[in-house]
Amino acid sequence: AEAFIGRMETHRRLNAFITETPERAVEMARASDARRAKGEAGVLEGVPLAIKDLFCTEGVRTTAGSHILDGFTPAYESTVTANLWKAGAVMLGKTNLDEFAMGSSNMTSYFGGVENPWKRRGDNRKLVPGGSSGGSAAAVAALLAPGATGTDTGGSIRQPASFCGIVGLKPTYGRCSRWGTVAFASSLDQAGPFARTVKDAALLLQAMAGHDPKDSTSAPLPVPDFAAACGGDVRGLKVGIPREYRVEGMSAEIDALWQTGIEMLKAAGAVPIDVSLPHTKHALATYYIIAPAECSSNLARYDGVRFGLRVPGKDLAEMYDNTRAAGFGAEVRRRVLIGTYVLSAGYYDAYYKKAQQVRALIARDFKQAFAQCDVILTPTAPTAAFAAGDKMDDPVTMYLNDVFTVPTSMAGLPGISVPAGLDGDGLPLGLQLIGRAFDEETMLRAASALE
Ligand code: GLN
Repeated sequence: AEAFIGRMETHRRLNAFITETPERAVEMARASDARRAKGEAGVLEGVPLAIKDLFCTEGVRTTAGSHILDGFTPAYESTVTANLWKAGAVMLGKTNLDEFAMGSSNMTSYFGGVENPWKRRGDNRKLVPGGSSGGSAAAVAALLAPGATGTDTGGSIRQPASFCGIVGLKPTYGRCSRWGTVAFASSLDQAGPFARTVKDAALLLQAMAGHDPKDSTSAPLPVPDFAAACGGDVRGLKVGIPREYRVEGMSAEIDALWQTGIEMLKAAGAVPIDVSLPHTKHALATYYIIAPAECSSNLARYDGVRFGLRVPGKDLAEMYDNTRAAGFGAEVRRRVLIGTYVLSAGYYDAYYKKAQQVRALIARDFKQAFAQCDVILTPTAPTAAFAAGDKMDDPVTMYLNDVFTVPTSMAGLPGISVPAGLDGDGLPLGLQLIGRAFDEETMLRAASALE
């Protein structure tokens, strides 16, 4: 713990942490030593972790990357973090993120952007770590923590893992409890781990996951031995290659990397097969209706009365207005406006209802594909990490970065990003494996074959 606290302090320029909790880390590490001395070690005994600042942590300020939660210190612990502490893990601090997890670059954080520890060869410009879990991904990549938590609504674990050259896993929707995690889009949000290897990610997930009666969408299923699935035999495993993921604008390098991934799995005895996910082209448009709709409803609670920031006004309505205008950044306001628009009486059928119907078709595509294959292999993102400031003036180009991760989220399926190589500029690129619902084990088995 001391070694990682030291690195956290010497790497503040990355801006990976919003809140450092070194005293808590030392206290937890001492308690862990005491348990170990009694022979009571849990699976993560003494392992220091960085926690995305979207998980409520008892007695430690939780910001969600927003100004509106100013001064908010939860009186409760999220189920996922409580599970990690039960397994013996130690909290190093709370990591930076896009405001309310809305973004793909970490640039929408009220606390400023995070610097990706990677740089293009011969180019000193700062690059983004991806988002929204950019602080967690950068922390693990820069060895400020051996592992971290993230949340993934449309790619926020997998895309930053790809940009930072580490492993990031989004489990099946319902695998991890959402209780005590600040909500963005409740039908999509899932917690998951970042780590340097597939097996470390499996161990972290094992501790994080499990049924929780406090979240009605948490699956009442036992947690399998995820670590045992890693490194297993993939001979005969059918790997679907979806032809619709060869999107326009995807670089030749990413296509080549995808081929390399296929060859690696083939060499390990797996069998690539061509599959079709015909509604992929509608996934982004559908996601950017459903996610803002749910966000507009979830964020209605920040009214200056119950949490955090309050900016007074002459009456209650003006206090609401002033608080929300001062507390929310531009991207969050944009999403709330889109969300309330698509949910309004005159447009509900045309936008929100239609999007839900398309979502069902996207889920059906995966169901049909998984009748033929065991896992699906795709690139994680269409680009490597981009320069800070790029894509910021046009939200649509930013949204396009989620093209490969969003369909999985819409279908509630598990996905993992594994580092797969470097591009011509020396930047890491990831490949994504997608599994059947609640079959993270097969996905982990295949992911190990890519390491
Ligand atoms: N980039 C996507 C968005 O902005 C996904 C974010 C996430 O998964 N939390 O909505």
